[in-house]
Amino acid sequence: MKWILLTIVAFFLSACGKMPHHPYMESNGKVKVLSTTAMIDDLVAEIGGDEIDHVSLIVGNLDPHSYELVKGDDEKFLRADIVFYNGLGLEHGASIREHLEKHSNAIALGDILIAQDPNPFLVIDNQLDPHFWMDIELFSRSIDPIVAALAEKDPIHASYFKERGEFLREKMLLKDKMLMQEIQKIPPEKRYLVSSHDAFYYFARKYLEQSTEGNWEKRFMAPEGLAPDGQMSVLDIQAVSKFLCENQIPVVFPETNVNRDALKKIVAICQEKGLHVRIATTPLYGDAMGTKGTGADTYLDMIEHNIFTLTDQLSKE
Ligand SMILES: [Zn+2]
Repeated sequence: MKWILLTIVAFFLSACGKMPHHPYMESNGKVKVLSTTAMIDDLVAEIGGDEIDHVSLIVGNLDPHSYELVKGDDEKFLRADIVFYNGLGLEHGASIREHLEKHSNAIALGDILIAQDPNPFLVIDNQLDPHFWMDIELFSRSIDPIVAALAEKDPIHASYFKERGEFLREKMLLKDKMLMQEIQKIPPEKRYLVSSHDAFYYFARKYLEQSTEGNWEKRFMAPEGLAPDGQMSVLDIQAVSKFLCENQIPVVFPETNVNRDALKKIVAICQEKGLHVRIATTPLYGDAMGTKGTGADTYLDMIEHNIFTLTDQLSKE
């Protein structure tokens, strides 16, 4: 019995900490690429194809803003020839920041893009908004720095990475157009989004904007700030409930990686004011993608899930 227990414990320890049998940990001559978020890892996988081994550091519904390294993450950093991260202040956990600063080839995609062209990037309450993956076209600009970094590490496959990068760009831009059309199904007067934290400003600007009005900032509100680990005040809660009442918004959207307490309070306040607001049964993906089987386990499927969920929930009321 004791031996069985020890075997089970040993199995779990090795499974959690050391990623056994994962090609990323094998010495096979391929470039090893670590990405902080699953969204970046998905782009890297599409571009690198069979010629790289890749993993994502932050998996499942964990909050990337406050993520701290866990057992086994050290080894992933040590193995990495390239580390891609979001930048723009997203990864602000102390241990992850330390490893990113220490790594000789850590590339902040958002920081590169904002240096090239600051115009599309948003500043909310004097703070850079890191959630630029919420606009497919803007996120697709990460393809070039990814292709360049892979080609530098593995010049023999440079044209392979470039071709796959071009293919991915076309796919992303096509999906972007398709989803912009899909969202038109929501009547303009109902095109509002209230979620848990401020992850959707880029999304609102891209997909909730109405071409003639230029009013996207008035289309989105959330009780929690740019990072859901920040302080949330009673004033924030009151502001959101006022926003719901003024615009007669009947539904609020939880996010997979944020708890729902704030939304519940808001619904209760609205109820007192006589506005019936419900919490959507299908959550949105703010800072994370879905796991396998959710239908949101690739970057583009995740954004599509968000758009389809909004279209479905907002156009039927
Ligand atoms: Zn966020």
